[in-house]
Amino acid sequence: MRGTGSADYNEDFMAAELICFEEKCRARYPITQVIYNCPQCGGLLEAVYDKPEQSAPMLRRLWRDRRASNAPLDQSGVWRYRELIPFLPSYDGVVTLREGNTPLLESKQAAQYGGLDRLVFKHQGFNPTGSFKDNGMTCGTAQALRLGMTRVACVSTGNTSASMAAYASAAGLQPIIFIPHGNISYGKLAQALEYGARTLQVKANFDQILALVRQLAERLGIYLLNSINPFRIEGQKTIMAEMMDQRDWRSPDWVVLPGGNLGNVSAFGKALREMKDLGLIDRLPRLAVIQAEGAAPFYRLMRRKARRLSAVVHPETLATAIKIGDPVSWPKARHEVSTSQGTVEKVTEQQIADAKAVIGRCGIGCEPASAATLAGIRKLTASGVIAKDADVVAVLTGNVLKDPDYIYRYHTGALKAPSGAKLRSTFGNAPVIVPNDAKRIARMLEGS
Ligand SMILES: *Cc1c(COP(=O)(O)O)cnc(C)c1O
Repeated sequence: MRGTGSADYNEDFMAAELICFEEKCRARYPITQVIYNCPQCGGLLEAVYDKPEQSAPMLRRLWRDRRASNAPLDQSGVWRYRELIPFLPSYDGVVTLREGNTPLLESKQAAQYGGLDRLVFKHQGFNPTGSFKDNGMTCGTAQALRLGMTRVACVSTGNTSASMAAYASAAGLQPIIFIPHGNISYGKLAQALEYGARTLQVKANFDQILALVRQLAERLGIYLLNSINPFRIEGQKTIMAEMMDQRDWRSPDWVVLPGGNLGNVSAFGKALREMKDLGLIDRLPRLAVIQAEGAAPFYRLMRRKARRLSAVVHPETLATAIKIGDPVSWPKARHEVSTSQGTVEKVTEQQIADAKAVIGRCGIGCEPASAATLAGIRKLTASGVIAKDADVVAVLTGNVLKDPDYIYRYHTGALKAPSGAKLRSTFGNAPVIVPNDAKRIARMLEGS
């Protein structure tokens, strides 16, 4: 499972650094310094590199050729694009589960529902653990190994813990997951348990646990893989590289994605800017971030043109992957939405539920957070922000099986919003009880 041998020595790595994202600070640190925020100003960190030596046509050909390779590193939809993420001195220690490699899926039905002539989904739910978190986690664990860490940790009950557990175990690191007491999402937690994570429930809220984990991390040599980790963001950049490669480097007009902690929009924006600087694409697509109405602090920040994000104290949505009141990456996200002349929209629980059912009926399927994209597109075409004939790619972030309970309730008319209000099963498809009688079943099936 390890990557290929010493032929993959990365001669460019000396040029990699961490830099503070805050305009006023921009302090630089060695790529190997174990920091999660800027030690000087507390700002977010990002990885920066010198430009690769290869020209854009050379990179495109190199990446296309690697698709025919049997080398694990080339088969990874993240490490195939390693010239865009050259933070490692050598690729010997990289562990890949063949993350990325996710398809572009076109759907007429979904396009029509979204008010578009054409719509293509980039489905990150096709990843090894069923979400885009794998794109980042292969990078985060590679960095942990490179730093000589033996344990990694995160605070999460969701896709982050499922992904971290898998990659850490595959790399021979010990995954430790901290979860708030009595606040568990069982589907995703089940994956974490199966992949061998030590799972600790703490009687405290998310922020208290994060403070606790930071203390423990220093004392016990634990590397933190929360979504603030800049190397996870580097891995998520390759989602845009792979999408452009699949489109023969033609930029779409819009890339639409759900917004939770806002790591994805930060990663996508950085990737697109870097690809434009390298001459790989000739223009930036506009980024449209869709939030759930009950957890929409970034929507509020952008619409009010506020200076700072004010947190939603009690975020509420059934789309648990985007149920986040205080998203850490908001300064980066704001920069990327503005730079791309993008937009932010919010959608209701009903709109998410119906859009999700439509994506299901296309034979595609996704988890609730992902469906915010189609719900958002429907709103944005209705208001004229996205033109009917626009070239749109919507990123589906998670697999349909992540949340089967939600699906069953929707189709049987038993889904309730966090407010307690019953949601309509607009596209409900409940199972039917029939007698053990071929004639009557035949008559029923013919009649429908
Ligand atoms: C983590 C996650 C999100 C939120 O992504 P951010 O990058 O934090 O905005 C959305 N959908 C799914 C399925 C996720 O797992």
